Amino acid sequence: MNLSFVLEKVQSLRSEDRPIPQLRDDHDVQVRVKFTEFCGSDVHYWNCGEIGHFKVQQPMVLGHESSGIVEQIGAKVTTLKVGDRVTMEPGEPCRRCDVCKARTYNLCPAMAFAATPPYDGTLAKYYFLPEDLCYKLPDSLSLEQGALVEPLSVAVHLVRQANVSPGASVVVFGAGPVGLLCCAVSKAIRGCEGDCRAGLEFARKFAATSSFLPGNVSVHDNAARLGVENELGNGADVAIDASGAEVSIKTGIHVLRPGGTYVQGGMGRDEVSFSITAVCTKQLNVKGGFRYATGDYKLAIELLATQKVKALDLVTDIVKFEDAQRAFQQGKDRNGIKTLIAGVED
Ligand SMILES: [Zn+2]
Ligand SMILES: [Zn+2]
Repeated sequence: MNLSFVLEKVQSLRSEDRPIPQLRDDHDVQVRVKFTEFCGSDVHYWNCGEIGHFKVQQPMVLGHESSGIVEQIGAKVTTLKVGDRVTMEPGEPCRRCDVCKARTYNLCPAMAFAATPPYDGTLAKYYFLPEDLCYKLPDSLSLEQGALVEPLSVAVHLVRQANVSPGASVVVFGAGPVGLLCCAVSKAIRGCEGDCRAGLEFARKFAATSSFLPGNVSVHDNAARLGVENELGNGADVAIDASGAEVSIKTGIHVLRPGGTYVQGGMGRDEVSFSITAVCTKQLNVKGGFRYATGDYKLAIELLATQKVKALDLVTDIVKFEDAQRAFQQGKDRNGIKTLIAGVED
């Protein structure tokens, strides 16, 4: 059977034996899931039952950050064979609409994304995907690292939106996994050694500062001090928000130099206020970034394989599938940065 970790309804999780689905067509592969990280969105669905307009209306398998081993392949699969170790890109776009054809398939209105209602996620013994959404892991990468490719691809996509050039100054808001990975990816792309630790420490420090002073800080003073302490001159070239917090968004707009680029990755309150005048008078480029698209998974795998990003450092615990609930509790308590859940054992 296909043991699955199911969000039954808000606040209610359970393991459930489900039938093993059949391959849906000749391009499908069946993956035996080996590692899954739970994500902030999983915890959010568990606690609130919805994110934006996505609402949990029927029991749904959680999880979307997974790696595994190919166990069965469709008749027309040419790029994978049984036994291959893969990381899974867990969203299947329609491939026919204009946004899909424009290589922005992450924005496809018909996207079927794991653990986004109504689609089941990857926290199960088996998961099914078309072959092109399963990326073979290089020998040097472990299956544990394979599960980190998903959040790393989110960071890659955000940093790519900002067109970070060598030597650019990048300020990242939010010290969760995606924010920390944005620091690491920016550093790798900037090609500047010795900056990463400072970047990570800075991200942590900044998040702590803003969580101690919610709402009451003068955004201008905060941005100015941030600029002075980091010798940003006229301001940062790039600001990436991976927090969704209003105070971070406001600060991000103010910390930028004229002509700088702002990228929104974090999702918090639906509507926030920030200085649209600063956007105008500094002629800022303000962009959004959502999930990942063409080439992001490949670059994420390369960054891990070349050890330019050591994402495994973010993992603080590995639990058995039976203990997945504990991983969720830890996530809720913000206990540790990332917890890996091992696949179902025989
Ligand atoms: Zn995630
Ligand atoms: Zn589409």
